This record gives sequence, structure tokens and C-alpha cells, in this order.
Amino acid sequence: MESPLFDVLVVGGSFSGLSAALTLARSGRRLLIVDDDAPCNKTSEKAYNLLTNDGLSPHEIKAKAIADVRKYPSAHFSPGTVAEIAVGSPFLVKTTGGQAYRSQTVLLCTGMADIIPDIPGFAACWGKSIIHCPYCHAYEQQASHVAMFGNSDDDVALAGLLKTWNKGVTLLTNGRPVSTDQQQLLDKQQLSVITAPVSGLRHHDGQLLAVLFDGHEPFNIRDLFVNPLAKQHSPLAEQSGCELIENGLIRVDDFHRTTVPGIYAAGDCCTAFRTISTAIASGTQAGIFIHQDLHKNYLKALMEDG
Ligand SMILES: Cc1cc2nc3c(=O)[nH]c(=O)nc-3n(C[C@H](O)[C@H](O)[C@H](O)COP(=O)(O)OP(=O)(O)OC[C@H]3O[C@@H](n4cnc5c(N)ncnc54)[C@H](O)[C@@H]3O)c2cc1C
Repeated sequence: MESPLFDVLVVGGSFSGLSAALTLARSGRRLLIVDDDAPCNKTSEKAYNLLTNDGLSPHEIKAKAIADVRKYPSAHFSPGTVAEIAVGSPFLVKTTGGQAYRSQTVLLCTGMADIIPDIPGFAACWGKSIIHCPYCHAYEQQASHVAMFGNSDDDVALAGLLKTWNKGVTLLTNGRPVSTDQQQLLDKQQLSVITAPVSGLRHHDGQLLAVLFDGHEPFNIRDLFVNPLAKQHSPLAEQSGCELIENGLIRVDDFHRTTVPGIYAAGDCCTAFRTISTAIASGTQAGIFIHQDLHKNYLKALMEDG
């Protein structure tokens, strides 16, 4: 049987997708949210820096958001993974489970996937004792000494920022040499540095115990910060012909439109500013602009009909 025609199909039902869904459902739009429940912060026990939900688990926040959206009868949910978006009028959206849905527009809220260094122990500690964002977790993780795993030259400045919350900070450059200027900056901020390549992390159930090096003694530390590189969680944007910008984000205009007419994007997948509150705000904006674009299309069709 052919699927009903949705106004909007939202791919990704996490913070940005659910926020857009709330706005669209409250505007009477018929929408479907397809989500395979793998948000980027899934390994974190708690989420912070979020008004009214500060310190709840990501899972609890998502459950509350789903309950908010479910109050509106025009919002529909389908667990699953979108495999393909056939661009057309309407769009035909296919899942890996074999379902096919028709929709006037598609909103990508598919998030980003952090690129976790291929170092033994890193993945197990990710989101537990390895932290990516000081504004989300540094207040709770305050310790007399923390380490920062460097990815780029900017990390000398970022490591210094961590002194806002911690007395001592050691920068781990993982084999990258430190220039004279960088060493001066480190000294002025009273930061220590280990340049030896990191060979592994000793941990217990994701709780870091020590960083291990090639040619350097282990460094006992409980908290490690990293400014990770990231890529699109889903290949859908590229597969559908949406342009990406330099850092792998989806190109959108001020109205959350991608370069493919009818496909929109919101949340982490199109902004480098990655927090739950900004993802929620981005979803709300996208919801408003999609609703307005659909209305403009409706008016255009009315005029064409005479
Ligand atoms: C370890 C960690 C801890 C964090 N802690 C905090 C914190 O404490 N406070 C804070 O404000 N921010 C925190 N963040 C940032 C915050 O989690 C993100 O900014 C936020 O989750 C972005 O929301 P989003 O909806 O854009 O993407 P995501 O939350 O990543 O969700 C994307 C959704 O799309 C789904 N999806 C992707 N592709 C498909 C597909 N093809 N088909 C179906 N579904 C698909 C995924 O399964 C997922 O559910 C943290 C991030 C990380 C990595």
C-alpha cells in the first residue's frame, strides 16, 4: 500500500528533530519522525548546561521530549534507519527495513559522529571519563589535575581554558612536537606537556586510570578532555546531493534550507556549535521556516490554479 503523503519527514528524532517536530505538529503539519536512537551523547550518564533539565540523563530528556511531541496527533513516529532519499515531488524516503514513505519535504536532523582516536581504551572511556565539551561537563569533573588530548595547534590555548575549572592541566600532544612559541604560551599559563605518542588508556569500565605512552612512564589521571574531529553521522545529505561545507557540515541558508530544494537540516549536522540547547533552538527555527515555506508553496499553487 502506498504511504500517506506527509508534509515533513524528519530523519533523526533526537534533540533537534524532536524540537522541529514539536513546532511542526503544533502548526498542524502531518509529519513522520524516523529515528534509530543513536544520538552522539548516548554514552554520557548525564547532560548538563540545559535549563530545566540540567543533570538529567540524555535518555530521560529524550523520553520527555518524545512525550511532548506525542501529545499532538499529526506527529507520527517510526523507529528505523533511513537508507535513501529519492529526490522528487514528493520525496520518497526508504528505510533499511524496507518501508517507503512519501513526503513533501525532508528535514535532516541526523547529527554528527565524533571521530574517536584509534587508541586502545579511548572508545570505552568516551563520554564517561573522556569529555569533549568543558561547558557541558567540566563543572562536574573538576579535579586537582586533568589532561587534554591535543588534536591541533589550537589546543595549547584550549588547554589553558581548562584552568577555569582545574588547578593543573597537562597537554598531551600525542607525538606532535611543540614549537618554541607554543612552549612559551604553555609556560606562561603554567601548563605541563607530554609530547610522547599515546599508546593506550588504562581504565576500569570506562573510568580512566592512566594514560600510557611509547617511551614515557604512565600518567595517572582520571579526566581527559579532547576536542574531537567529527563527520556526518549519516551519508544521507551527500547521497541526496546536499552540499557540505569545509568542516563536513551540511550547507544551509538562514532558513535551514540545504542546497537541494525541499530538503532542510537542523542541529549538529549543520552547525559547529554543538550543545543540546542550540540543537533544540535550531530545530524550532527549522520547524517554523518549513511551515512557512509549505504555506508559500500552497499560496503559489492556489494562484497557479487561478
Ligand atoms: C559525549 C557527549 C556528551 C555531551 N554532553 C552534552 C551535555 O552535557 N550538554 C549539552 O548541552 N550537550 C552535550 N553534548 C552535545 C549534544 O549531545 C549534541 O549537541 C546534541 O545531541 C545534538 O542533537 P542533534 O539532534 O542535532 O543530534 P543527535 O543528538 O546526535 O541525534 C541525531 C539522531 O539522528 C539519528 N539518525 C542519524 N542518521 C539516521 C538515519 N539515517 N536514520 C534514522 N535516524 C538517524 C541518530 O540515531 C540520532 O538519534 C554532548 C555530546 C557528546 C558527544
